[in-house]
Amino acid sequence: MLRPFRLHEPETVADAVGLLGQYGEEASLYAGGTELLLAMKEGLLHYGHLVNVKTVGGLSDLRYDEGAGVLRIGSGVIHRTLERSAIVAADFPLIAQTEAGVANVRVRNVGTIGGNLCFGEPHSDPGALLLLYNATATAQGPSGIRTIPLSEFAAGPFETSLEEGEVLTEITVPRFPTGMTGAYEKFGYHARPTVGVGVALRMDASTGVVTEARVSVGSAGPKPVRVPQAEEILAGKTSAELSSAAVLRPAARSAAQGADPIDDFHGSAEYKEHLVGVLLGRAVRTASGAV
Ligand SMILES: Cc1cc2nc3c(=O)[nH]c(=O)nc-3n(C[C@H](O)[C@H](O)[C@H](O)COP(=O)(O)OP(=O)(O)OC[C@H]3O[C@@H](n4cnc5c(N)ncnc54)[C@H](O)[C@@H]3O)c2cc1C
Repeated sequence: MLRPFRLHEPETVADAVGLLGQYGEEASLYAGGTELLLAMKEGLLHYGHLVNVKTVGGLSDLRYDEGAGVLRIGSGVIHRTLERSAIVAADFPLIAQTEAGVANVRVRNVGTIGGNLCFGEPHSDPGALLLLYNATATAQGPSGIRTIPLSEFAAGPFETSLEEGEVLTEITVPRFPTGMTGAYEKFGYHARPTVGVGVALRMDASTGVVTEARVSVGSAGPKPVRVPQAEEILAGKTSAELSSAAVLRPAARSAAQGADPIDDFHGSAEYKEHLVGVLLGRAVRTASGAV
């Protein structure tokens, strides 16, 4: 049962930060509430004061900054908007596709990208996906505004690098460089993914050689990660070599090791290592245009 709490509806980030400072451990931010209210209903968490992110002006903005070549996603943007936005579909189709596979339409209609990243549930898609883009997060708190590379945002299961009283305000997503294509593959038999693997490959149009490879793995370990060892194996290969076991096997092994899989109710570490390999192969084939 949900115990009573007071709901605050700030209109600016500064007011939200002020409320968090005023009520300290008694207060929590909340956006769609799909994680927080559930945990409060089940008695796992209790806060006497909830600070509503959705009433803060600007946090639900989504825009493409043409000059900088970046997508600016307000932390209060819901999954459904990312799935359906024409701006996202035009220049960031992989984000639209991946968002369409997050949860179900009811959750996507209220759940926000900020809530997803800030809850820090390891079994999530956006964290691993956005690592492929070298995205950054902007946070505002009592000490001002700072930028955090997304690779440093997740700190572990249900933990982030946000400091006390900080509000995640925006996620900035640079476009892939010209010639780069990405793919994100996931598998799961519960509501959330058991494992998700992202691959982005930049191919030289004349030689067909990979000039840059990016590999990310999510859900398998305590937090989503980029795996430079797997990226090094894929870089420099031709599209024909990319589909050979001689390349895919060591890349899969490196990705599985780099993801640091753990046993949990989604499966054993060994099972997740196997899945990382299967999903990596699929993502490489899609990103290289082999399928
Ligand atoms: C049935 C179900 C299936 C799901 N399946 C998937 C899936 O397939 N893939 C996937 O990725 N996710 C999945 N999810 C997770 C879903 O994406 C998240 O529940 C949702 O995005 C959380 O957003 P929210 O706005 O509801 O967060 P809330 O519940 O409002 O908040 C979550 C946490 O984030 C904090 N917070 C929120 N906004 C901010 C902010 N701006 N700054 C700082 N802290 C903030 C809150 O204090 C709270 O601790 C699933 C969830 C459910 C319930």
